[in-house]
Parts: sequence; structure tokens; C-alpha cells
Amino acid sequence: MKKFNVFYKNDEQSIRISNKIKNQLREASFEYNEETPDLVISIGGDGTMLRAIHQYQDILDEVAFCGVHTGSLGFYTDFLVSEVAQLLENIINQDFYTVSFNMLEVNIVEDNNTTTIHALNEARLENNKHTQVMEILIDDEHFETFRGNGLNFSTPTGSTGYNKSLGGAILHPKTKAFQVCEIAAINNIAYRTLGSPLILNQEKEVKINLRGLDGVVLGYDSYVIDLKNEYPTTNYLTFCLSDKKVTFARYKRLAFMDRVKKNFICEDL
Ligand code: NAP
Ligand code: MN
Repeated sequence: MKKFNVFYKNDEQSIRISNKIKNQLREASFEYNEETPDLVISIGGDGTMLRAIHQYQDILDEVAFCGVHTGSLGFYTDFLVSEVAQLLENIINQDFYTVSFNMLEVNIVEDNNTTTIHALNEARLENNKHTQVMEILIDDEHFETFRGNGLNFSTPTGSTGYNKSLGGAILHPKTKAFQVCEIAAINNIAYRTLGSPLILNQEKEVKINLRGLDGVVLGYDSYVIDLKNEYPTTNYLTFCLSDKKVTFARYKRLAFMDRVKKNFICEDL
């Protein structure tokens, strides 16, 4: 991997570190290339990494990502600011292995058009204006009628993000599945939902028929879409685990469970 780009959060520390990395890799005769890099180094947080991935969504097969976290340790970022010299040495020596993670696929199906979106963490249908009614179908079979604030569909690597705050399970990234979590479901005589997170395998597809689009927001990773404005003739949406993958270049071994422990239980292992 000789062509690199640095994608950074717009703060003083991240800019300084990205300049340092750019200069040192150029000196080591790496080529700075914004269009078709084969290594993208993200400097910032997990959110910065998600935006870097979306910027290169059309060439994900050809790019690997790695990250420096300018806060505490992240889920997609392996190196702390104090470890930049080590990262540079590893990049220059091409001392790495790769891991790939499946994305989630969302289809927005309109009268005459289908738009496909991919997300690494999750996609969420939310309505903060009024409670949203939606029919949930699994593999085209009616499952339940939902009424509440929304639903979150998370990948295994996204399970430590919004999904976890919603009471979802953490899935090991090697699990080929996606998870559906309710966001403030109303349960009464008229509306009855499962009430617990649901984990589905890669062959399953969830179809959502929305009753009305007013106030519905489709969020995915760090982005949001106002469905009524942007896709006014939406008939339904589908959610499944995609074959599309994001590849990370790993320059040091940090097991997923250690990452979970370091982030959520105690920092020193
Ligand atoms: P943000 O509002 O800054 O992110 C919220 C937090 O989620 C940040 O601390 C972020 O880490 C962290 N995060 C992102 N991906 C994660 C992952 N896979 N595992 C564990 N933590 C993760 O927005 P953002 O930085 O653009 O990130 C977008 C993500 O935020 C969404 O994909 C969603 O997962 C998450 N989110 C969480 C909630 C919630 O928990 N209530 C609500 C909305 C969105 P950094 O500080 O390192 O960026
Ligand atoms: Mn963030």
C-alpha cells in the first residue's frame, strides 16, 4: 500500500497530527492521493472514520482504513495520539493484516425508483414529531405493527454504538447477522410489539411499510435523510446485511472483546 490519504476532524490536534503523518509518509516515498488511495488514515473519532468510509463508498473494494483516535480509544480507531510514531513505523514497514466487516443495506423503494444506501454502524427510522406507525414484515411475512419513535437496524460492528444505548446486544464482528432494536415502542391494547431486540441472519430481509412520511427521518451512520422531502413517493424500505464490506488495515492486535472491555468496563487491561 503506497497511495494514502489522511482524513481528519477539523480541530487543531487532528490537523497537526495529519500534517505530521502526511509529511513523514511522503518522505518515505509514499504517494499522497485523495482520489484513489489504497490506505486512508482517519484522525479523530469513530465518527470521523465513518465519514471517511462514506467518502470512499464507491471504491471500498480497493481501500483499507486505519485510524488514530484524538480522544479515548475508539471502535474503528486503533491508535492513540501518543502512538503515532509506532503507527508510522508500521505503515512504512507495511507491517499489517486486514479485517473486513459487512455493511447494512437499505433500499428506499419509490414508485419509479429504488435508492440503495450502505451503512457500517446502523440505519434508523425515527420520528420525533409524532409517533410513527409502521408494518414490519420479515421475508415478506407480516410480523408486527409498530407504533413508537422508531427502529434501529445495526450491524455487528455498529452494535456498540446507538444499538447499545437502546438496550441491544453486542454482537461479535464475525457474526453474520444484523439486529433490530425498538426505539420507545408503545405497547397497549391496540399496538403490541416484540419488545426485545431481534437478531436476524444474513439471509433475512426486513421490509417496513410506513404509515405516513411526515416527520420520518432515515439516519445512517453520521448522516440523516428527511424522507418526505427527499423521497416523497416512498412505498416501503428494506433492511438487510449487505455483502459490501469495509476493510481495515490492522497494525496491532487488539481483540474485539478487549476493545469492549476497555471502552465500557475499565480502561487498563
Ligand atoms: P456522535 O453523536 O458524535 O456519536 C455518538 C457517539 O458514538 C460518539 O461517542 C462516537 O464515538 C460513538 N460511536 C460511533 N460509532 C461507534 C461504534 N461503532 N461503537 C461505539 N461507539 C461508537 O456522532 P458520530 O461521531 O457522527 O457517530 C455516528 C454514530 O453515533 C451513529 O452511527 C450511532 O451509532 C451513534 N449514535 C449514538 C446515539 C446514542 O447512543 N444515543 C445516538 C445517535 C447516534 P466518537 O466520539 O469516537 O466519534
Ligand atoms: Mn463523534
